[in-house]
Amino acid sequence: LPGLVRAWGQARRKEDSRFMLTGDQYKSSLNDGRRVYWNGKRVTDLTGCPALKSSIDAVARTYDAAYRPGDRAVSELLQLPTSADALAARMSLHTEWLTEISFMCVMTALTAASRIAARCPERAAAIRAYVDMLQHQDLRITECITDAKGDRSLAPGKQHDADAYLRVVERRPGGIVVRGAKLHVSHAAIGHELLVMPTKAMKPDEGDYAVAFAASVNSPGISIVTVGEPTPGDPRDFPFSSREFVPQCFVIFDDVFIPDERVFLDGEPDLAATFAHALGLWTRAGGLVNLADDADCLVGFAQLIAEANGLDKFVHIREKISDMVIHATIIRATLEASLKNCERTTDGMMIPDELFANAGKYLHAANWSLMIRHLQDIGGGSVLTSPSISDCENDEIGALVQNYMRGKQGVDGRYRLRLLHAIRDYTLTSYGSYKSFSNLHGGGGLYAQRLVTRNRYDMERAKRLALKAADLSGAAP
Ligand SMILES: Cc1cc2nc3c(=O)[nH]c(=O)nc-3n(C[C@H](O)[C@H](O)[C@H](O)COP(=O)(O)OP(=O)(O)OC[C@H]3O[C@@H](n4cnc5c(N)ncnc54)[C@H](O)[C@@H]3O)c2cc1C
Repeated sequence: LPGLVRAWGQARRKEDSRFMLTGDQYKSSLNDGRRVYWNGKRVTDLTGCPALKSSIDAVARTYDAAYRPGDRAVSELLQLPTSADALAARMSLHTEWLTEISFMCVMTALTAASRIAARCPERAAAIRAYVDMLQHQDLRITECITDAKGDRSLAPGKQHDADAYLRVVERRPGGIVVRGAKLHVSHAAIGHELLVMPTKAMKPDEGDYAVAFAASVNSPGISIVTVGEPTPGDPRDFPFSSREFVPQCFVIFDDVFIPDERVFLDGEPDLAATFAHALGLWTRAGGLVNLADDADCLVGFAQLIAEANGLDKFVHIREKISDMVIHATIIRATLEASLKNCERTTDGMMIPDELFANAGKYLHAANWSLMIRHLQDIGGGSVLTSPSISDCENDEIGALVQNYMRGKQGVDGRYRLRLLHAIRDYTLTSYGSYKSFSNLHGGGGLYAQRLVTRNRYDMERAKRLALKAADLSGAAP
């Protein structure tokens, strides 16, 4: 049976099979011979692997919810927004993360295609044909950009290990052979495809590193090490950890052959950054949708626990919550400005504004720890040390636990406990740490957003305004 399923999985990748997948078909399609490792062992049953199971189930539910029968049906989740309203609607859909990443990959690829089309029309055409295949086969794709990097002070071409950045090691008739690794790739083990691109701009002598392509996850030479697993626990005590987990993956390319039709860039160093910028735009704008909700959620937690504790009228508590409200409002404003100022590409699809998306992502990541500090300060020690909900249910001590967990008059002890557990899980558990860390580095570190914001900012206009205000227009050197 596994052999048959594998054969089916490979057959459905043929370019002429065009239909949407159900959740079960998605699960079966993962059984395609891919090499996935977890905790030192090869994973033979992905759907049973503790690190992957909950994510696979969540993705399967999304497939089922979006499914429409029929030849050439295209999932609305992978359709291209061609108006500002369609862009805003798609960005606010909030399915699970693999599907969102897949949409961002599709948009990244097409954004890059529109930017390289004038110079490399055949590469742009290959990207468009590839996206068409993804849409019509309803595949999920993950973004592989971050290299191993070795010594960060050295350029790719000057590294002691030439493979520290992924590169072309051979060019053959019909395709190229690539070697290297891409790190921290969210969900790579449970998607179908990998969209691979250079992590940054390349120098003129770094043509072998200026390579972008797509590879099927089960291509010979690709191995994926998946990292971490969801935290086990009662969902009432760990409401976030128990339902959200993103497997992070270490993807190794050990001399992988990529056919010409899947090569989107090879040997054009001056175009390397085009792909990285397109990905940065989509991951930051896409991430900002969640960040804006996260910022509001922090405000909500702070206000709810302040009310439950009888603290909501105290001046210093109100000031902390006001700081959080201002933060949340500014993050949402950057999201809305990014969507309102979207631009149409030459292909007719809409892309968010880079300046606002980068400024918003930066601000949220830079201020997250202060917002968490306010929330934990307001919540008090019980955020960390509250008994579990099962303790509330114990015949001997449950009633007493609930009694002493009451807050102000009328606040039920069990309700307050669950609120405290939610705040702990959101800010203190491994889920909370994951959230803080992914705010910082996911979609690129703070420096990357500073760089883009600065590049996109209209500095000349700012200078003109300053000169006018100082009555110095026309006098500047
Ligand atoms: C939760 C999460 C999800 C992620 N998902 C993905 C994904 O799906 N796909 C993917 O490809 N990547 C993904 N990433 C990777 C992410 O984009 C990187 O972690 C981020 O860009 C930082 O790169 P790095 O980890 O290699 O750190 P480094 O590049 O080592 O950066 C560490 C610090 O060193 C500084 N630094 C590095 N090099 C230099 C230099 N030459 N000069 C001056 N300063 C320097 C940086 O500015 C930073 O302050 C994810 C990361 C996280 C945490």
